[in-house]
This record gives sequence, C-alpha cells and structure tokens, in this order.
Amino acid sequence: MELVGARGRGGGGPMTSSTTASWTGVAADHLFGLHTLPYGVFTDTRAPQPRIGVAVGEAILDLTAASAALRPEHAALFGGGTLDAFLAAGRARWTTIRATLRRWLADERYAEVLAPLLVPAADATMRLPFTVADYVDFYSSEQHATNAAQILRPGQPALPANWRHLPLGYHGRAGTVVISGTPVRRPSGQRRLPEGTVTFGPSTALDFEAEVGFVVGTPSVLGQPVALSGFADHVFGVCLVNDWSARDIQFWESIPLGPLLGKSFATSISPWVVPLDALNAARVRPPVRDPRPLPYLDDTGIEPWGLDITLQVRLNGTLISRPPLRTMYWTAAQQLAHLTSNGACLRTGDLFASGTVSGVAADERGSLLELSWNGAAPLTLADGSTRGFLTDGDEISITATAPGPEGTLLGLGEVRGRISPP
Ligand code: CA
Repeated sequence: MELVGARGRGGGGPMTSSTTASWTGVAADHLFGLHTLPYGVFTDTRAPQPRIGVAVGEAILDLTAASAALRPEHAALFGGGTLDAFLAAGRARWTTIRATLRRWLADERYAEVLAPLLVPAADATMRLPFTVADYVDFYSSEQHATNAAQILRPGQPALPANWRHLPLGYHGRAGTVVISGTPVRRPSGQRRLPEGTVTFGPSTALDFEAEVGFVVGTPSVLGQPVALSGFADHVFGVCLVNDWSARDIQFWESIPLGPLLGKSFATSISPWVVPLDALNAARVRPPVRDPRPLPYLDDTGIEPWGLDITLQVRLNGTLISRPPLRTMYWTAAQQLAHLTSNGACLRTGDLFASGTVSGVAADERGSLLELSWNGAAPLTLADGSTRGFLTDGDEISITATAPGPEGTLLGLGEVRGRISPP
C-alpha cells in the first residue's frame, strides 16, 4: 500500500518540542510524523497474521511485536489482530500509550529494539482496523442538506422542519463496512424510471459521499445517555469514510423512511485511525446554532469544537472537491449525545459518520449528486471525459489533512475504492 502525501510542508525547519525529532528519520513535518501516530492493522509477506501497526512516515511500526518486547503488560491490547482490545481500554490507556510511543520513537536508546520492527508501508497490506459494531451515518452539513433539497424538492423549504433541532441520521449496515482498496461492485436494485416504469437492474446513478468517521472505544451503559461532556471518554479517534450511494435505488426506496439498499452495499473506510489526541490543534468553533438547541444538545457553555479537517476528493486522479469539515452544523459530540439520548448504549467499535461534508463553494461539495447537480452539469476530468455519476472502473480517492502542532499539518491517510461491473 501507499502512504499518502509524503510531506506536509516543504523544507525541514527547526525541530520543536511538539514536532519531535526521531531516530527513524521521519521528517518533523511529515503528514504521518510523530504528531500524528495513527493506528491500523496490517499484514506483510514476512508474517501472514494481522498485527497492529502505527504509521511513522513511510514506515509502519509493528506495535504487536514492539509491545511484546518492551511493554509486556500492554501486549494483550495489541495481540488480537484488531484494535478492538485497545479501543476498549479507555482514554487513560490511549493517552499513556501515545506518550510511550512518542518517547520510543524520539529516544535513540529504543532504536536497537524498534528499528527492526519498522516495516516499509509499501510492503504492507492494510486490513479493516477494528470490528465495526454499529454503523450510523448523520446528515449534519447544512450546505449538503440544502443542495440535496434544491435538487430533489425544488421550490420547497431547503431544510426539513426538524433539521436545526436535532442531528438527523440513519442506521447503516456495519457488516458491509470495508477497508480502503476493496473493489465496490455496482449494486442492482429497484428504481423508477423517469417515465414511471418500475424496474430492477444495475444502478445508473452510483455516487460517493466524502465523510469523516468517529470510532467509539469504550462502551456505555444501556439506559444511560452520554452527555456532551462525555464525548472524549468514549470516542477514540477518526477515520475517513466513503458512504457509497446508489441514488436511483435510494430515492425510490426512501420515501418516507431513510436509505436502505441504496447505501448498504458498501461503505469504505481508511486504514488508519487518527487519535483525538492528535487533533487538538485542529479544533475550531462550530457555526452558531439557531435556534438554540435543547439542553442535552446545547454546547454553548462548554467550549464546543468542530474539527478543521479538509478533505480532498479525486476521481481517477482529478481533484474534484475539497470539502471542509469545519463547516458542519452539528459537532461529533452533539451527534453522540443525540445518538444515546434515548438510552441506547455504545459498543466498542461503533462507527458514526459525519454525513456528507459540503462547503458553500461549488468545489467544496462532497458528492457527485451535488457536483454534477444530479447529472445536469457533468464534471470534466483531466482526460477530457465527463461524469454525471460513476462509471465502471472509476476510482474515488478521499484524503484529508488537518492542522497539527507548531504549524505542521497532519494526515488522515486515504480511503479509495474502484467501481467494478455489476
Ligand atoms: Ca452519508
């Protein structure tokens, strides 16, 4: 596999306390420098069993082997071939182990043990990093919701009456969440043709949705809602999500309920989970919410934050959009508080996604539905071909960056998928 985006900023620059120098030689401003340290699961030709890895520049530290060698008391967290045990371990452990990793990678005395455990990322195959428990997808971009309404219900109010009162969402299909690089077969389904005939066949309006996913670590208790202030106790980190969507199937089936088969055929996620602890410099104030949310969603007194993550979407290599997560109306903490407000409990491995990220500008839209205005204004790619929706063989790549400490950028890696024929 390939680690995306070798360098965040040009030049080496002086090392600072937060962007620590490392005996590994990773540049302080690498998107996967010591300020990022995302977790994933990999295999390589040397060992077929999945191991926990931490991305360090263009290499992966075999954390399964490293913890066995240096921290046997933590080895059980990294021995199961998924991040599940580590996710369940809770915030105190997440923070301690991140600090330990930074020390290992900065202090030359650890090089003798750890250098042999650095695997070239190019030699690794990434696996689904955790067992996805429940998967929920929100609809929290005001611009996306507005665009969708204008396309589908022209002349009617842009936002449903409930939209500014609660983060709308739906339950997706956890079992079809797949790792980046998994081919996405064009789904077949029932749809209504423009002249009214109802038919079954391959989707003719296959789309992507660029999103950010939040990965739950520690569970909550059935019957006990998680307050806004409990977010960091439960959520470990973030990954990138492509919520593939068959618009023709979706729009016919989802009146009056939500999407089902138009979404459930596949959802792709990036291999690297970036800890929340890496994203402190990326926190931004969310937009003003009007009307003021009900008390369980009212974050005006607790320093609310969104994340200044900028996505980049490429279709067959052509950059087609740069959706900005900072514009989302509802924060992840509000989404989680809403998700548990009825007493529903969290499980380790729950994944909830932001919803399609769309900014105000035309080149910040997070789906082809919006970018091509439902096919009416096809995009032109670098090779001169045009797209309303996705063609067999098309590849969508979503990458992302966010501000790191000391003026650096950090990366969230890549989620990509290619459409295969039905
Ligand atoms: Ca979505």
